[in-house]
Amino acid sequence: MIAEPPALACHGLTLAYTADPVVRHLTLEVGAGETVALLGPSGSGKSTLLHAVAGFIRPTAGEIAISGRVVATAQRAEPPERRSVGMVFQHYALWPHMTALETVAFPFQRSGMPRPDARREAAKLLELMGLGRLSARPPSELSGGEQQRIGLARALARRAALYLFDEPTAHLDVPLRAALQEELAEQRTRTGAAAVHATHDVAEALAVADRVALLREGQLVQVGTPSEVYQEPVDRWAASLTGPASILDVIVERVE
Ligand code: ADP
Ligand code: MG
Repeated sequence: MIAEPPALACHGLTLAYTADPVVRHLTLEVGAGETVALLGPSGSGKSTLLHAVAGFIRPTAGEIAISGRVVATAQRAEPPERRSVGMVFQHYALWPHMTALETVAFPFQRSGMPRPDARREAAKLLELMGLGRLSARPPSELSGGEQQRIGLARALARRAALYLFDEPTAHLDVPLRAALQEELAEQRTRTGAAAVHATHDVAEALAVADRVALLREGQLVQVGTPSEVYQEPVDRWAASLTGPASILDVIVERVE
């Protein structure tokens, strides 16, 4: 049997907007069907990394492969529409002229589904996410949290081998946040898709992920299961990021 290629493989990836890179020599693999949480403080490079995987930023060095196919190097990068990824942006961009239903139906239609079926599927997805009563509204008549969930429904409507979530619960109240995390977990079991889930929220990272990757100033500090990163942080920074840390100064008097 041939092993399935990783859903995502970044090797020696360097990403820069200016001369000073934001992500440096990053190597990370996400297995088929695996969810990896990208956990790091604001400004650590999470969005930049996801944008590069989705195809909006070209690497300065290194490469990105999706399902075993190289999609980006410094020399050559495929455009976003050629990559089989569904992305939920931190700053959601909904189409202003479309209602919630049309927005979510669009990816179904694009994949070749007849319009009535696409609308039915979209209605089901909106219902599932507690948005059924908002289907006829355009984005201007929706709150930030509602827009975020429509963006998420639109991404889920696009069947992808890899989903990228950029702080998807940032605009949600706590109870909704938990419901959404459950929905994501269900979706993942149903479709077997892989995901990278960027967040600065430790609880969320530990709850949603098979593995957690700690990002600090564009470099991976530790990658491990939630219990590994929580119980065995590699350094003081990792310890204070993943939980309330009691740091004790010790004097080593003798090593036996
Ligand atoms: P995160 O998502 O973890 O908060 P970002 O990837 O948004 O981090 O940002 C990482 C770094 O890159 C920050 O220092 C930010 O100021 C910088 N940065 C982000 N976008 C741009 C841009 N379009 N031009 C220049 N610098 C940027
Ligand atoms: Mg960000």
